[in-house]
Amino acid sequence: MKALLVEKFGGPLVLEDVPIPQPGPDEALIRVKACAVDQFDLTIRAGKFAMADKLPVILGHEFAGVIEAVGTRVTTVAPGDRVTSTLYLTCGRCRYCLTGRETLCADFIGYVGIQTPGAYAEYTTVPAVNLVKLPDPIPFPEGSVIANAIGTPYHALTRRARLQPGERVIVTGAGGGVGVHALQLARMMGAFVMAVDIGDEKLALAGELGAERIFDASTGDFSASARQWTGGEGTDVVLELVGTATFASSLKSLGRGGRLVIIGSHTGETLTASPQAMIANEWEILGSRNVTKRELAEVVALVAAGRIRPIVTGRYPLEEAETLHQRLRRQEVVGRVVLEP
Ligand SMILES: [Zn+2]
Repeated sequence: MKALLVEKFGGPLVLEDVPIPQPGPDEALIRVKACAVDQFDLTIRAGKFAMADKLPVILGHEFAGVIEAVGTRVTTVAPGDRVTSTLYLTCGRCRYCLTGRETLCADFIGYVGIQTPGAYAEYTTVPAVNLVKLPDPIPFPEGSVIANAIGTPYHALTRRARLQPGERVIVTGAGGGVGVHALQLARMMGAFVMAVDIGDEKLALAGELGAERIFDASTGDFSASARQWTGGEGTDVVLELVGTATFASSLKSLGRGGRLVIIGSHTGETLTASPQAMIANEWEILGSRNVTKRELAEVVALVAAGRIRPIVTGRYPLEEAETLHQRLRRQEVVGRVVLEP
């Protein structure tokens, strides 16, 4: 099969013919129909992710496809099924797994596309327990972005921020792959959204998707604009997709009782917050990790019903991956782009 390999960290993506991976007894072999490209891929190929220490690696953790074959012990899915996959390999036995919080697995095994051969290839294998069926109305490119680009903000807004109708929420990085779906989810939940990002195309899309206020972050601190938007009160929630670079503005935008949920951090290692301000305002600063399988099933249902629109702005062959990575590195990708191996 054709596959893109990272043979050395910091090196190019190399297109090669490699053997089709064979599914283990609890795994499924999947013909990849679409694989989304995201910032995490850049981190892994740069050698900046500790659990990705073996080479060569085939990237690709957000995908959709058709099951080609299953291992001897698999009974939950069958050849011909249309599927997408959760991203984490978890033990299934610890108390977090057993209580439906498997993204916190105490015996975390690793990541699809790192510890398994990824989907920048014609075929991939994953544990069958990771798979969620995709209903027919959802095309493969749109299906490939559900588990991460929609699932991650879904978990953050519903379970972590506990966003309520009528609340006001800021989404930083609102025009990127996760942001465009966070914005739609917040609107669906009855909240008002202020979109923060850089670039006319991204900001225009945020407006089309219903952001009530748009802020071009190339002009700097957005907290004064947020205060003005909320009549001085500050916002109820900030969904932080950027991390260190926007954290100070995010915190200054937060109103009394506000919740700041961090789901992205590609701009630095540390955050600074005043404990006095946290006490006085009863702020909550929360982390949010990906999406559980149960929540993924909820998101698939929302997408199938047309309540959330997956934003896929380009479909490319494997040969274009390097160009896509360059655009991603320059923060030029609006929504998600996918490879069709
Ligand atoms: Zn576990």
